Amino acid sequence: MTANRLTLVFFVDALGWEVARKLDCFRDIAPYSYRQRTVLGYSCAAQPTILTGLMPDEHGHWGMFYRTERSDMRALRSLRFLPKTISTHRRFRGPLLKYHRKRTGFTGYYSLYRIPFHLFGKFDLIEKRDIYAPGAFASGAKSIFDHLADGGVPYRVWTWKDELNEGFAEFEAAIRNDRELRFALHYTPYIDAFLHGHIGDDKAVAGAVALIEKKIVRVVELARETRGDVNVVIFSDHGMAETTAEHDVMSVVTALGLGQGSDYHVFYDSTMARFWFESPRARDAITDALKKLDYGTVLSDDDLRREGVLFDDRRFGELIFLMNPTKLIVPSYMGGSAPRGMHGFSPEHKDSYAMLASSFAVDPEPTHIRDSFRVMMQAAGLPSEAGTPGTRDDPDDLGGATSGGNQEAAA
Ligand SMILES: [Zn+2]
Repeated sequence: MTANRLTLVFFVDALGWEVARKLDCFRDIAPYSYRQRTVLGYSCAAQPTILTGLMPDEHGHWGMFYRTERSDMRALRSLRFLPKTISTHRRFRGPLLKYHRKRTGFTGYYSLYRIPFHLFGKFDLIEKRDIYAPGAFASGAKSIFDHLADGGVPYRVWTWKDELNEGFAEFEAAIRNDRELRFALHYTPYIDAFLHGHIGDDKAVAGAVALIEKKIVRVVELARETRGDVNVVIFSDHGMAETTAEHDVMSVVTALGLGQGSDYHVFYDSTMARFWFESPRARDAITDALKKLDYGTVLSDDDLRREGVLFDDRRFGELIFLMNPTKLIVPSYMGGSAPRGMHGFSPEHKDSYAMLASSFAVDPEPTHIRDSFRVMMQAAGLPSEAGTPGTRDDPDDLGGATSGGNQEAAA
C-alpha cells in the first residue's frame, strides 16, 4: 500500500446482484464485479457480517429483537393499553422512537414497527450500539472500525443517520479538505427504501440506481483528481424480491388455542416467524401446524448451523419458520400490509444475492458478503486474515449504550 492511498467504500443497501448486473452499474469506476451470497435474515444480521467478516453466530447479531426476561426496552410496556388505532400509527410511533432513542442513548439502528408494546417486556434490541463505530459488539467481535482505530488509520463514515444529499456533500468536502483521510465508508439506505416500493418497475428502479451511481461517480472522480491513488469498493448486503403472495401465519397459530406469552412466545418478522416454547404440548402443536403449511419451511438445526445462525441459548428462536421466496407473513410485527418488495428469504434465491464491485481485482474472489470485510481490510492496507470471533456471548452484558451515545437519529 502506498502511504497516501485513499480507500473509498460505498455500501448501497439492497442493491442486489440481479439488479446491479442488469443495469451494468459502476462499470467505469469499479470494473471488477462479484456475486456474493448473503446471510439468512435481514440487514441487522447482514451488516454486522459485512463489517466484521463473521457469521451471525460468531458476531452475535441475528434478528433485530431477541428473547430475554431482562429487556432494556421494558419501559415501553407501559404503552400496552393504548388503543390500536393510536399505538400502531406512524405519527405516534415515529416521534416515540425519537424520544426512546434519546431516553435510552441507544445509537444502533432500530425501529418499533408495529410490535405490540406488551412484548417489550420479553424481547430486547440486539443493536444497542452504533455498528458503524468501534466497540459495537457485546460478543467482543471486532469490526472494520475497530481495526481502523487500532491501526491509527484516519477515517470517516456516513450512515443511515445522515441525510442523502448532506452526506454526499460532506464526503466531497472531506476529500477536498482532509489530506490525512485514508479510508471513508458511505452507507445509504436509499435504494433499500426505494426497492421495497418499486421493485419490478424497471424504469423507476433504473432511475433510482442512476441517481445513487451519479453521486458515487462524482465522489470517485473528485478523489482521483485531488488524491490520485484511490481504491474503490462498492457493495450491498442483499437483494430484493418482488412479493407474490401474503399469508396470515398469525391466525394459523392463534387458531390452535394456545396462550401466547404463557404456552409459547413468538416474534413475527416479515419473512420468518420465530417461536419459543413453555411446554412440549405447545411445541408439538405449533410445529405440526407449521409443517402443514405449503408456503414456508420449518428450519432444522442443520439448516440453521449451515447458515451460521444457530445460537446455543436460542435467544433468536427455538423454532424458525421461514417463508418461501416472494411470500410474506401479513400481518406481522413489521407491518399490516405487504410491501411490493422484500428480502429475508433463503440466501439461495436469485434475488437474495448481494454484489461487490471494485476498482482492483480481488484474490481470492469474494463469494459471500462476509468477504466484503476482507476486501475493505486489504484495500485499507490492514492485515486481512479472517475476523476475530467474539468471546463473551451474552447480549445482556451490553446494557445501555456507550458513553459517547445519544446521537439523534434521522429515522
Ligand atoms: Zn429493506
